Amino acid sequence: SLTMTQSIGEERLMVAVRVRPTANAKEEKCIQILSKKSLYFDDGSKNKPKKYVYDYVFDEDSTQDEVYQTTTSPLIKDVLQGLSAAVFAYGATGSGKTHTMLGPNPKKAATPSSELPPKTTSKQGDGLMVKAIDEIFRYVDESENPSDFKVSISYLEIYNELIRDLLNPGSPLELREDNRGQRITVAGLSEITAISRQEVIQLLLKGNKARTMEPTAANQTSSRSHALLSVSVIHRSPLGTKLGRLFLTDLAGSERAKKTKNRGKRLQEGAHINRSLLALGNCINALSGGAKYVNYRDSKLTRLLKEALSGRCKTVMIAHVSPEGQHRDETKNTLVYADRAN
Ligand code: ADP
Ligand code: MG
Repeated sequence: SLTMTQSIGEERLMVAVRVRPTANAKEEKCIQILSKKSLYFDDGSKNKPKKYVYDYVFDEDSTQDEVYQTTTSPLIKDVLQGLSAAVFAYGATGSGKTHTMLGPNPKKAATPSSELPPKTTSKQGDGLMVKAIDEIFRYVDESENPSDFKVSISYLEIYNELIRDLLNPGSPLELREDNRGQRITVAGLSEITAISRQEVIQLLLKGNKARTMEPTAANQTSSRSHALLSVSVIHRSPLGTKLGRLFLTDLAGSERAKKTKNRGKRLQEGAHINRSLLALGNCINALSGGAKYVNYRDSKLTRLLKEALSGRCKTVMIAHVSPEGQHRDETKNTLVYADRAN
C-alpha cells in the first residue's frame, strides 16, 4: 500500500517483513533479500524462487531503531492528537516477534541476580513498546503544559479467547461495550499511570513473565497467547478532551497445529489462535481494499482493536520470518499472510 514513502507517513496501512538473523551462517537459506521492499523465497523445489513485494523489508542487520523509526514513530503524533493506531508483530514462534516488541530476550541478557535491568542496558536494543512510550513521554515533557496530559498503560493477554490482565494476573476479564457498541472496554483491567521509563520497562518485563507459556514440540516456551499493550494519552485543553490510543500487539505464534504435533488442549489453543489471526488478517485485508465488509466480531482480538482498525486510524503489520531452510514452511505461511494483508 505504500508507494513513494519510506515510512508509514500518511498511509492507512503498512505491511512490513522483518527477517531475523540466522543462528548458523552455514545453513542453507530460503530467503534472499532483493531491496528495501522485496525478497525472493525459495520453496526448496525445482521451481524458481518466488518474489514477494511489501511496503518495507527489514533485513537481518536491521536495527531496533530502524524498525521503530519506520513503523511506529510516525504514529505517535496521531495518538497525541486523539487518534488510535495499532502495530502487530506476526510470525511463528522463534521468528523474533518479542525481540521487535520488547527487546532482546531478558533471560539471555544475563542479570539473574537483580530484578532490575542493568542501567547500562542499551536503549538501542529496546523494542517498539519501550521506544514508543519513551517518545510519548518526550512529547509530553516538551509540550507547553505537560500537566494537561495523562499517559497510562494497560497490558493484557488473550489466551483461548479469554482475557487476562498481565499487570495484575487473576481470573479472566470480560469485554464490555457501551450501549451503542462504539467503545469496547475490558471490565476491571488495571490502567497504570506510568511515571518513568524504567518503571515501564519493569512492568512490561513482569507482564511478559505472566504470559501463558505452553510447551509444544516446536518450542519449549512457545507463546500461545496474544499480548496487547495499550498506551492511552488523554489531553485536556480549553478546546476539549482528546483520547488517543496506541495498541502494540505481540501476537501468538502463527505455526500450524500439524507441525507442533498438538493434541487435545494444545490443538484447541491452536484453533483459537488461528481463528483470531484469521479474523485479524480479514480485517487488515479489508483495510487494504481487498474486502468490503469487515467483521470485527469474529474474535476478541479484533473486537478489542476495532477502534484502531477502522476509521482514520493507522495499522502496521510486521511479519517476522526466520531465513533458514528448516523454517521454510512457516516462513512461507507468514509471507503469504502478509502478502494477503498488503
Ligand atoms: P518470538 O517472540 O517470535 O517467539 P523471539 O523474539 O523470542 O521470537 O526470538 C527468538 C530468539 O531470537 C530470541 O533469543 C531473540 O533474542 C532472537 N532474535 C530474534 N530476532 C532477533 C534480531 N532481529 N536480532 C537479534 N536477535 C534476535
Ligand atoms: Mg515471543
